[in-house]
Amino acid sequence: MADIVFILLFFLVLKASAFLSLECLNLNYLSKNSKDLPLTVEGIMDNDTFVKSVNYTRTKSTFSCISSIYDSAILCLVLIFSLIPWLYEVLTNYFGQGYLGQSLVFIISVSLFGLPSLPFSWWSTFKIEEAFGFNKSTLKLWITDQFKGFTLAIIIGTPLFMALMWIVNQMGNLWWIWAFLFFWGFQILMIVIYPMYIMPLFNKLEPMESGELKDRLLELGNRCGFQSKTILVMDGSKRSGHSNAFFTGFGSFRRIVLYDTLIDQMEINEIEAVLAHEIGHYKCGHIPKRLAFSAISSFLMFAFIAWLIQSESLFIDLGFSPEMINSFNIVPPFVPAFLLLSLFGGLFTFWFSPLDSLWSRKHEYEADSFAKSAIGSPVSLKSALRKLYKENLSNLIPHPIYSTFYYSHPTIVERESALNED
Ligand SMILES: [Zn+2]
Repeated sequence: MADIVFILLFFLVLKASAFLSLECLNLNYLSKNSKDLPLTVEGIMDNDTFVKSVNYTRTKSTFSCISSIYDSAILCLVLIFSLIPWLYEVLTNYFGQGYLGQSLVFIISVSLFGLPSLPFSWWSTFKIEEAFGFNKSTLKLWITDQFKGFTLAIIIGTPLFMALMWIVNQMGNLWWIWAFLFFWGFQILMIVIYPMYIMPLFNKLEPMESGELKDRLLELGNRCGFQSKTILVMDGSKRSGHSNAFFTGFGSFRRIVLYDTLIDQMEINEIEAVLAHEIGHYKCGHIPKRLAFSAISSFLMFAFIAWLIQSESLFIDLGFSPEMINSFNIVPPFVPAFLLLSLFGGLFTFWFSPLDSLWSRKHEYEADSFAKSAIGSPVSLKSALRKLYKENLSNLIPHPIYSTFYYSHPTIVERESALNED
């Protein structure tokens, strides 16, 4: 086996070990601390809900250990048996080496490599979420969702990839800078298009009905300098009992979306607090910051691909035939490089999760603090958060290392104590 195969296998095992160790650490911590309702979380949940949340955490964690071992095993087989070059050659012989053909080769390969995880996605929805009363989806809806996702990947991904390959071919050595600019522009366009045209393909989004709730929320928006024409209500209950609220788009394309489940679960003052938190994300400039971050990541990704495709031998070591690599009218292994990145990129980006989580938690504290001053008191936000954590059976006592690594939101104990300060 070539060195590069060993190196990738090493990083595969390293990531899987770190992943499993973190899950075990978290599960042991949970077992040790969940005998009685811990004092720190007393009042947040009643004992029955707490026991349920412990079981939910345990079931999900065990499941993700099994699925991570399975995914790693699949990737090992893909590497050892050179399945990427094999599939790539089969599909290229069928679809050809033109812009359209190679775009389809990429999208279909990625979809085919995703197939082995489908049963796990099914199990998670229909066994685990079902058992805890969260699943509202049907098999028919689930299959339709998968099909729609694949169709969208073809419709959006094909022209995007064709344009990228054209840039690679036309722009000379600095193609990757142009490709980055194009790709980033495309990402911005998607932020606008996504809530308007893609989300409605999966969910019904309707402007909130007139009434006290709407008046209160619009008034809050005006008070915070966040004029919004509509607040959208999404039928999240179609698939799941989990509740959420989020913010999409930017500038005049911005939209606030509340799940119907959230509206059912909360009082008016609590929904107001949740909205104030979402407006806080906007007002604290979190959206341009996230956009800048995604620009930097895309820039690094294209720089890396530009470096990667210079090494013909690397692709030959991975099992691509020299004829295949050299017979291109497009700059050599651009599509193979993208394929490698989409399958193995996660082995490296995984290690940056703690930084990303840290940054995200900082934004959550800022949005909480904004909501507290917008409403004038932390009381409604605190009771809204308690309901959110309770209704979603969130783990109240994660291991500190585990939450540092993964948690995009601080734990409720941390959020409450931050809200109680000053
Ligand atoms: Zn938030």
